Amino acid sequence: GSEKVLVKDKSDRATNEQVLDPRTRLILFKMLGRGLIERIDGCVSTGKEANVYHAVGPPAEGAEVPQLVDVDSSAAPPAAADDEPEPSRTTAVRFAPDTAADDSTSAPLVDPSSQVKHIALKIFKTSILVFKDRDRYVTGEFRFKGGYARSNPRKMVRLWAEKELRNLRRMRSAGLRVPEAIEVRENVLVMDFLGQGGADEWQASPRLKDAQIPPEQNHALYIEILVILRAIFYRCRLVHADFSEYNILYHQGHLWVIDVSQSIEHEHPAAFDFLRSDLKNADDFFRKRGVDTLGLTRTFAFVTRDESLAASGSAADETDADAAREVERLLGLAADDAAREEREQAQAQARGEEEQQRPTASDEAVFAQAYIPRTLDQVYDAERDVEKVLRGEGKGLIYADITGVANIHLGGGGGGKKGDEEEEQDV
Ligand code: ADP
Ligand code: MG
Repeated sequence: GSEKVLVKDKSDRATNEQVLDPRTRLILFKMLGRGLIERIDGCVSTGKEANVYHAVGPPAEGAEVPQLVDVDSSAAPPAAADDEPEPSRTTAVRFAPDTAADDSTSAPLVDPSSQVKHIALKIFKTSILVFKDRDRYVTGEFRFKGGYARSNPRKMVRLWAEKELRNLRRMRSAGLRVPEAIEVRENVLVMDFLGQGGADEWQASPRLKDAQIPPEQNHALYIEILVILRAIFYRCRLVHADFSEYNILYHQGHLWVIDVSQSIEHEHPAAFDFLRSDLKNADDFFRKRGVDTLGLTRTFAFVTRDESLAASGSAADETDADAAREVERLLGLAADDAAREEREQAQAQARGEEEQQRPTASDEAVFAQAYIPRTLDQVYDAERDVEKVLRGEGKGLIYADITGVANIHLGGGGGGKKGDEEEEQDV
């Protein structure tokens, strides 16, 4: 067929041309040819690094492969741009089948809307500039060791798309709510579309940021988000690294995680920095919505606790319900703490003492600033710190529980050399 991939109006042309280079168009035409998708009928999001399109998959059986035709001109007006620097939503590109449904003999017997296979195409942009600032996610990522095709943007972009597919599958097989990844071809990722509606009046599910959430559901969703964060870290051994209300869709009453091309192994040297910022976004979001959240320090401890929350104590047995129960327990403790602090402060004031500094507030500030080493390799002076622990002064070490420093005991004859031995391990 011809290679007419048509763009509806001039204002969108520049955006679309960046993505739909000839090679990308060829990939899409092959998908149409194979019958993986039947038509591409709308742009859901145009972002800095990728555009997302809605496509319709073939109805169950014996579907004819449609031909592409020129688009109609009944463009929906672009949605009002919001003030955020995030992807804007437009409805711009339309690929339409010319075998429109006037063939009544092939009319489906059941309501077509229930049969529609909605598909999302995430098309990564292939321009070099876009990927310059992505290096920080790749450094130290073992899956990229030995070959990061930095000189070839197409190859680089392809790696990102493949990585997103792998991360989606890994999360899905750990039971997380993420779109099912269907396939990836170079810079085009094909996945399930999260939304609703029939073939013609579909709608993408909103981002958490934009979703109309009944206020009484906020508490439950806050627990859900913590369960998700722990599942990503503890079950998938990943850190999302761009986790926020922009990359979570509110779909069928639940939170669905998307945009995982930059997610990193939890062993990545900067994993804890990314994790802390992920957790902060979640905590801030729900606190602004009036939820009494755990705060960053407690959230971090909950998510990274390297110990199964299952009754059996086995990591493989830990379920979302176990994690949710633990969150409820921590929320109860936090509430008790707050009440106790208030009581103590009131008592101190009654005794005429100077008002104590609230430990939680200052602890939170320290934690938010602290450098969190991922492994002993990264501890600035491991030997000094280990000796501190051995002298029983390790309590102040933020990372003591995480890195296992707290569990080091003097063995045999070796004392201070422990740090060097640890460095040999590739953790
Ligand atoms: P980026 O932020 O890098 O542009 P995302 O993966 O976050 O890419 O996708 C951009 C937007 O596209 C999302 O905010 C969401 O609105 C929409 N989107 C992405 N994937 C899907 C999907 N599977 N189903 C429905 N909408 C999606
Ligand atoms: Mg995004």
